[in-house]
Amino acid sequence: MQSGEMADNRAIVRSSRRLTIGLVLAGVLVAGCQPGQQGGERPPVADDLRTVNVYEIAQALGLKVTDITSTHFTLKNPANIVMIFTYPGGHAYVNATSIGEVGDVAVVDGSTRLPGSLIGRIRNAMEAYRETPVPTPTASGRVVIDAGHGGKDPGAPAANGYDEKTINLQVAQKLRSILNSRGVYVVMTRDGDTFVELEERADVANRMGADLFVSLHADTASDRSVRGYTIYVADAAPWSTVKMAEAIENAMGAAGLSSRGVRRANYKVLVRTQGPAVLIEMGFISNSREASLLTDGAFQNRLAQAIADGICACLK
Ligand SMILES: [Zn+2]
Repeated sequence: MQSGEMADNRAIVRSSRRLTIGLVLAGVLVAGCQPGQQGGERPPVADDLRTVNVYEIAQALGLKVTDITSTHFTLKNPANIVMIFTYPGGHAYVNATSIGEVGDVAVVDGSTRLPGSLIGRIRNAMEAYRETPVPTPTASGRVVIDAGHGGKDPGAPAANGYDEKTINLQVAQKLRSILNSRGVYVVMTRDGDTFVELEERADVANRMGADLFVSLHADTASDRSVRGYTIYVADAAPWSTVKMAEAIENAMGAAGLSSRGVRRANYKVLVRTQGPAVLIEMGFISNSREASLLTDGAFQNRLAQAIADGICACLK
């Protein structure tokens, strides 16, 4: 690990005001924990003391995160475009009109924290928009989710110190519960930090005649600037499998990472699986930004949601 990476992991405090806020917040928390204190509930933490990540903002305002870069976030719904610039002094814009400076931005454990008051400020500037409820896509089918690596095989190291095997399993478990809630029957090739041979992973799908085998991995490259997700199918995969891979590739765009497209490669799990099989490289964990996202629980949920949307589209 190089010293440059260490800096990414540390809380980067960009303003001394943040320290003051931190002390005030610590004061509130300490006060709230004192034994013997009577007289009702702890006062709620005010919006300007609370910090939120971009997904919490999106969820609170009914927006989708459509772009994540090192300088800004873009969030959208059909009536509004919100841009939040995260460098010191950066402004937030709602439909191209500034709503003022974003305020204190801190990177904590690789996750960008923004002032909670942004939610109210953005809401005030947004055009009224009532979302027509879109039915959650449901599907029936039998899917094998294969969390890549495990046990003695850690997979690739992430720029922030995590192992690929851990990220793969965390997303796999989230994906399973989303698919289950939508009516899809899921079998996991592993559900813990265990080593499973590649042949056995494919055979799980072959034995049950799965409608789809989905292997989850995270990519790595010596060039740390390489980013984006890739969907692989075997060289000999039929067109119907390519169409499934394209549906997943398309749906994954909603999570905010860029696509490197559907590609062919003879990974063992893809070649040995008799039914449709895809391998998803969810992003590059050699890239510090994507490593931060892929180890962030909120982003993992968002990604699992997008992959589930794609799988449900495949099973239709
Ligand atoms: Zn892998």
